[in-house]
Amino acid sequence: MIKFLDLNKINARYEDVFLSRFKTFLDSGYYIKGSEVKQFEKQFAAYCGAQYCIGVGNGLDALMLIFKAYIDLGKLNKGDEVIVPANTYIASILSIINTGLKPVFVEPDEATFNIDPSEIEKHISVRTKVILAVHLYGQLADMTAINAIAKIHNLLVVEDAAQAHGALSISEGKKAGNLSHAAAFSFYPTKNLGALGDAGAVTTNDTELAHYILLLHNYGSSKKYVNETIGVNSRLDELQAAFLNVKLHDLDEDNKVRQGIAKRYLDGITNTKIKLPFYDLSANHVFHVFVIRVQNREDFIDYLNKKQIGYLIHYPIAPHHQKALLPFKSLYLPLTEAIHETVVSIPMSPVMTTDEIETIVNALNLY
Ligand SMILES: *Cc1c(COP(=O)(O)O)cnc(C)c1O
Repeated sequence: MIKFLDLNKINARYEDVFLSRFKTFLDSGYYIKGSEVKQFEKQFAAYCGAQYCIGVGNGLDALMLIFKAYIDLGKLNKGDEVIVPANTYIASILSIINTGLKPVFVEPDEATFNIDPSEIEKHISVRTKVILAVHLYGQLADMTAINAIAKIHNLLVVEDAAQAHGALSISEGKKAGNLSHAAAFSFYPTKNLGALGDAGAVTTNDTELAHYILLLHNYGSSKKYVNETIGVNSRLDELQAAFLNVKLHDLDEDNKVRQGIAKRYLDGITNTKIKLPFYDLSANHVFHVFVIRVQNREDFIDYLNKKQIGYLIHYPIAPHHQKALLPFKSLYLPLTEAIHETVVSIPMSPVMTTDEIETIVNALNLY
């Protein structure tokens, strides 16, 4: 059986150093917002090329803290519209709704699965205030076009970078997390940079926003028992920060391995029943997942099961067809719906063996 993703194998690489960091953590007696969180915030900001990084509880909180901060700072008002790709993971949309903003669903570009800039323009109204760009599946959204549209219409741009740690735009010379006004990261265990539990971060170059989120995420307080605003508790856990500090060193190397596997899949899989994803061979795609499309998905999945090849579907139900998003049910989003009906993600991780990769290539060619 080839697993879709072997999280144990990914983290087993660090067993000794994790155990030693845990012992240091245990002995320190300092379990919340200690030196590991500080170090991670500094390291991750530098890694992204952003001025600020604030560690938070998870990726959804990172997005919500950005929106809440903009509302509190007077840059957004409740009810303002946020343009969001219709085919994103539902968390992007929940962050908008949970902060009292209104999502406006926009169809993707079929080649990249990312939001289609020409569709964005058609959905801009007088109430549009933000574009939430999602770097879906690990590939950067077209930030040059998105930022240009935002500039014309005086909009904020926020990145949902939960799937794209380390993705680099060659044309901009910048990484995910530094391509907009503010970015949200998740370090959920399956992400390219994954903790051993929940974790997230906000990156930004906006001093006012950074300082305000620093308050918000910790009870509205920067000085113990002095509360300046109505905050929440969404802190990056000290122990998760310790693990992330270790793993950040290997992120670029892991992403290169992912790109190498993607290239092998793209070169090796020649079956015309399988539609392969677009990849321009640049560093702008870090292959959080490798998503193919097939017309008869049920039949294909039966075949994968028979061949003992793991898979997942990102995602089986379009957000506007989820029960949770009933008010959006009647939206006409044919491309998004077609994508949700035909996508399958095949194994992709930095710890796959050459044997596993070749077994998958051969099996898919024989389908
Ligand atoms: C994982 C993910 C999130 C949410 O991250 P959590 O840490 O699970 O809250 C948000 N957006 C996208 C695109 C994601 O993939």
